[in-house]
Amino acid sequence: MRETPMVLSTTTTILSRWDDVPPRENLLKSMRLCAKAGFEHLDLHFGTQGQEGFPLAMDGWEIWVDEVAEEAFRLHVTFRQAHAFHYRTRESTAPLDNRPWYEERMRRSVLAAERLGVKWLVQHPSDFDADPTYDFEKARAYNIAYWTPFVELASRHHVGIAFENLYASGHHQRYCSEVDELIDLIDAFKGAPVGACWDTGHAAVAGQDQPAAIRKLGRRLHALHIHDNHKQPKGDEHLMPYCGMLDWDGIYRALADVAYEDNFSFEIKHATRDLPPELCEGMLSFMRQLGQYMVDRVVAERGPHA
Ligand SMILES: [Zn+2]
Repeated sequence: MRETPMVLSTTTTILSRWDDVPPRENLLKSMRLCAKAGFEHLDLHFGTQGQEGFPLAMDGWEIWVDEVAEEAFRLHVTFRQAHAFHYRTRESTAPLDNRPWYEERMRRSVLAAERLGVKWLVQHPSDFDADPTYDFEKARAYNIAYWTPFVELASRHHVGIAFENLYASGHHQRYCSEVDELIDLIDAFKGAPVGACWDTGHAAVAGQDQPAAIRKLGRRLHALHIHDNHKQPKGDEHLMPYCGMLDWDGIYRALADVAYEDNFSFEIKHATRDLPPELCEGMLSFMRQLGQYMVDRVVAERGPHA
């Protein structure tokens, strides 16, 4: 018996690149557009909202979070899943300048997530893609040590951390591009609230057998980034499903088999980003229709005994 049903959601990064809404209004406008299109659940992208000049990176950010909570209440939308502010560590060859400021925005992501009722906050593992060669043991040890204080912070604030699968975007393998590495990282945190976010586009670029990977992840899986691409190296296109080469039928069956029960969340920012702003609403309505079709397909795969 599942505690919660799987629900459709979308990232809040959906505004057209020509939409010149001020940063403080960016998320609120996105929320209104998504709600108008029929989305009841949203994946709040703190990565966008934590950029310089955006509200999570400003003084008074807590007041902005309260405004977001009030608007979500008014629109009847929830944030079960959110994307943390993320950054690359590049420890050995290109140290991150001003590291505490990056970490502060991760901390704010956690506190804002708690305030907004987020259950799973997605974060990218540290990938070391600037190293001349790939060293799994080094990346593994670093990630476990580096993320432990953040996992503990999130746990104290009733938020789970979902680590996301990546893909090789540099000149060699990138940590957690393979499902087995992601599972190993999650399991290293033992009883802590740590799970997986499966990004279908990253997995396709990384050449993963997605149905097999989803079945391996099983109950560790608590968040999804759903999007499509043409499986080209570094080709993380974030296309709408059925506009690329992914095997959606296999993914539906695997999600049904593991009784996935969290957000089925679109991360297809390019569908709206590249359109004139006046076409955004119509595209979001279609995305809502497409998403509901996909959710229904997963439910249909569960069969009568689910
Ligand atoms: Zn993603």
